Amino acid sequence: MQQFQQYIGGAFDDGSAQFDSRDPSTNAVWATMPEARTADVNRAVEAAHAAFLSPEWSLMTATARGKLLYRLADLIAENAPKLAELETKDTGKIIRETSAQIAYVADYYRYYAGLADKIEGAHLPIDKPDMEVWLRREPIGVVAAIVPWNSQLFLSAVKIGPALAAGCTVVLKASEEGPAPLLEFARIFDQAGFPKGVLNVITGFGAECGAVLTSHPKVAHVAFTGGPSTARQIVRNSAENLASTSLELGGKSPFIVFDDADIESAVNAQVSGIFAATGQSCVAGSRLIVHNAIKDTFLARLKQKAEAVVIGVPDKMETEVGPLCSARQIETAVDLIKRSVDCGATVMTGGAPLDREGNYFPPTIIDCSDAKDAPCLSNEFFGPVLSVIGFYTEAEALAIANDTKFGLGAGVFTQNLTRAHRMIRGIRSGIVWVNTYRAVSPLAPFGGHGLSGHGREGGIEAALDYTTTKAVWLRTSDDPIPDPFVMR
Ligand code: NAD
Repeated sequence: MQQFQQYIGGAFDDGSAQFDSRDPSTNAVWATMPEARTADVNRAVEAAHAAFLSPEWSLMTATARGKLLYRLADLIAENAPKLAELETKDTGKIIRETSAQIAYVADYYRYYAGLADKIEGAHLPIDKPDMEVWLRREPIGVVAAIVPWNSQLFLSAVKIGPALAAGCTVVLKASEEGPAPLLEFARIFDQAGFPKGVLNVITGFGAECGAVLTSHPKVAHVAFTGGPSTARQIVRNSAENLASTSLELGGKSPFIVFDDADIESAVNAQVSGIFAATGQSCVAGSRLIVHNAIKDTFLARLKQKAEAVVIGVPDKMETEVGPLCSARQIETAVDLIKRSVDCGATVMTGGAPLDREGNYFPPTIIDCSDAKDAPCLSNEFFGPVLSVIGFYTEAEALAIANDTKFGLGAGVFTQNLTRAHRMIRGIRSGIVWVNTYRAVSPLAPFGGHGLSGHGREGGIEAALDYTTTKAVWLRTSDDPIPDPFVMR
């Protein structure tokens, strides 16, 4: 049994309490995790706040902060196999994906390392002859970064990278489900040479750890990734400290295939869009909106591919779909499928958990063409479950695509350039992929509308979210200040 520790103020400890972590491929307990209670959270925020004010950090040049981030990126790359292995062990995410993703996580840190000394202020050509006025971009303060269990190293990189580049300090709360990779990441971070307390890594449950962290008076910004109902609680909590928030939430992303699309390519993209990461992806293309002229051909090919997917233990390179992270995920999927079938939807393949040890759910396709109110069309599964609906006209496809409270990703498959442009303009989402799906980069902003949240991660915009503007006024005249009762 392995024992993990939390990281506060540059030191490691066991936390006020501990809890067990289970291996999703067997549901057997394999490790003990530190549980941050109120006292631990307060210590972590105090450590981050002290570091924020410390001369070691607050007077460090942006270029020097960038160099530390480069060092961190190199350490992540060196330790990639260990981090990938731990993420697979604790969350069930397949090793094929964690190995590839962790290498890219290092590049995300490199991107923000390079950006650190390019977060510039401005000089204003002010409308007064005896004044110099300029804007300083200053770090916003202590950031509470909260992540869900899927892709924790990646989802924390898009918060820690820009926050540290901007000069903030961070308390990172790893998910209580599968925190091992982030607790190990803390050990790697510790070697990079940042001043103590610049990053603190804890884990614990939402009701205590999450609530105390997000309402703490010394937290200035909450960067959250998770579900919409948790986001609502976070917004309520932040009424206490009036912290700003960025919310990266779920999705029910449309995947639209027109009758002129390259079918083989679209089928492969759909497989990647809904079955990769075992469907546990916020941008999963979980609503297939397919032209009725090609629907049967498309679904026949997709079903064939879904049934050929290699389901297995997550630590084998040949595995394509592994276990879901928790038994709770299976219960949600079973319930949603039952209610959708009751509404008239038809399960074409999959639909029930596999009869084996662990949280295994097979690739599932549900045809909702005769069940437009089926809950599987509007609720996020966070599993390998695809809902399908047919259309005849472009206007109908667009209306179905936008018939959602979410607005994160969207895919459009067509060879018609003008139609692609009309769809790009018409779809309400933060990301549109045309003739591709599920591509990401540190350079490109990522985020959504509506129940998918607000704020963007990735790109320059994200770093600016961690800054606040200070307007500086400097009078250049040596004459006495004129009439003090008149605003100048
Ligand atoms: P969740 O909302 O249940 O939990 C996310 C995190 O919030 C966890 O660390 C949890 O402990 C914490 N939390 C829970 N209650 C809290 C509270 N009251 N105060 C503060 N923190 C609290 O989400 P989950 O089930 O772990 O993850 C799945 C969800 O995450 C899905 O909806 C998925 O779409 C979303 N997600 C979004 C993105 C994105 O970038 N948009 C990426 C990945 C996952």
